[in-house]
Amino acid sequence: MEKNFDLVVIGAGPAGYVAAIRAAQLGMKVACVEKDKTLGGTCLNVGCIPSKALLESSEIYARTAKELGDHGIQVNGLSLDLQRFMGRKDQVVKRLTGGVAMLFKKNKIEPVLGAAQIHQDKTVVVGDAKLSAKNIILATGSVSANLPGFDVDNERIVDSTGALSLQQIPKKMIVIGGGYIGLEMGSVYSRLGSEVLVLEALDRIVPMMDLELGQAFQKILERQGIQFRLSASVKKGEVHGDSVEVTFETEGKEGKITVDVVLVAVGRKPYTGGLGLKEAGIETDAKGFIAIDEKFQTTLSGVYAVGDCVRGPMLAHKASEEGIAVVESLAGQAGHVNYQAIPAIVYTWPEVASVGMTEEEAKAKGIDYKAFKFPFLANGRALAMGYRDGFVKLIADKKTDRLLGAHILGPRASDMIAEMVLAIEFSASAEDIARTCHAHPTLSEAVKEAALGLGSGTIHI
Ligand code: NAD
Repeated sequence: MEKNFDLVVIGAGPAGYVAAIRAAQLGMKVACVEKDKTLGGTCLNVGCIPSKALLESSEIYARTAKELGDHGIQVNGLSLDLQRFMGRKDQVVKRLTGGVAMLFKKNKIEPVLGAAQIHQDKTVVVGDAKLSAKNIILATGSVSANLPGFDVDNERIVDSTGALSLQQIPKKMIVIGGGYIGLEMGSVYSRLGSEVLVLEALDRIVPMMDLELGQAFQKILERQGIQFRLSASVKKGEVHGDSVEVTFETEGKEGKITVDVVLVAVGRKPYTGGLGLKEAGIETDAKGFIAIDEKFQTTLSGVYAVGDCVRGPMLAHKASEEGIAVVESLAGQAGHVNYQAIPAIVYTWPEVASVGMTEEEAKAKGIDYKAFKFPFLANGRALAMGYRDGFVKLIADKKTDRLLGAHILGPRASDMIAEMVLAIEFSASAEDIARTCHAHPTLSEAVKEAALGLGSGTIHI
């Protein structure tokens, strides 16, 4: 049985499902193929959403245990029911993935569950079904990268998916990789009482972020009890019954540490398995990313690729923007993604959020820049919250005053960064931000103060 569509989207993650919805809104007849049982992709099922649910719950637990006394609140007999803790996360996921299914229904998008194979004549085969389309979008996402010497069994040696559903709180845990997943999931278990050691290959954590911010962030995490070994060369992890012995080298010395659980979080790689790309004439690069032109078109005309399976940061919001850009271009509109204005956030406590150039990038590009840091210590709302760490750091062009980058280490930085993304999108100057009225008392006043610091001077320091 062959069915015809204007657009077939392969993959129902934030790139694919968002593209499918916008395409349907623009009048296209759309099918969306998904190999998993539920819609939503990695983000909704085993990524952004469940990890944020666990971060929220663990934050409440840790703050109740450690900080409520400071507020004059006494809690007796605090305990944790891990099953309910995990169950809440599953409910959040169920609600959201179900929400995508409802949106598909509302927009008359045909969900096709099964693994897709693409053919050169722009047909997509899913089991017995054959879908032909004027255009196809590949949005097949990514999977966790392997680490030689570590066999992920998702019990003792886990990847990001396994880390979302541990049956017991590990007494000791090693996290390999000090990036997004390592620090978020490391924080979750550290808050629940695990002794967490992060082994990072580079000489710094969060390598994608501003260096100064990363260093300050590491100090805060260390105060929370997370330990770090940087420039670590991790050799192997051997499971012996209920424990894992991890062999690694730092400063030329080999060490072995035995822990209950090892989380491998050393990045992700594009996933295009079983699609039949080569046979269809769709090229991939040396790292497995689907090759695309500036309009997201692959080497097969009428077939586009977006999200984690193409180059660029593996972030859900970048993926969605790309999906929308392709669909709007197909509908004759001006689809466009501004890669200078893609925020990046680590959802720990405090949060780390960043957009645009880091100071190192500005230096490397030979830009005549100015930078200013405003500490939350001098922000009234932060003090009222009991928060004293972190800062807002802004980088602007020295001559034009145009904002080049913003880097925030502080509570709810994920929400505050939106203003900075907008500023970069609108090519705002630091003075534009400084002259904008920010409500008092809010954390966002630190943004205004940092912008004032780049120009006429701060008020509160
Ligand atoms: P990552 O790229 O953020 O971090 C991986 C870290 O592992 C890096 O610091 C890297 O230097 C280190 N590393 C690499 N090889 C190593 C080795 N052999 N030994 C020790 N350290 C090693 O990757 P991730 O944390 O696995 O996350 C994967 C992707 O998922 C990221 O690209 C990210 O975009 C996405 N993600 C985003 C969020 C978010 O937006 N908050 C959350 C989770 C995941």
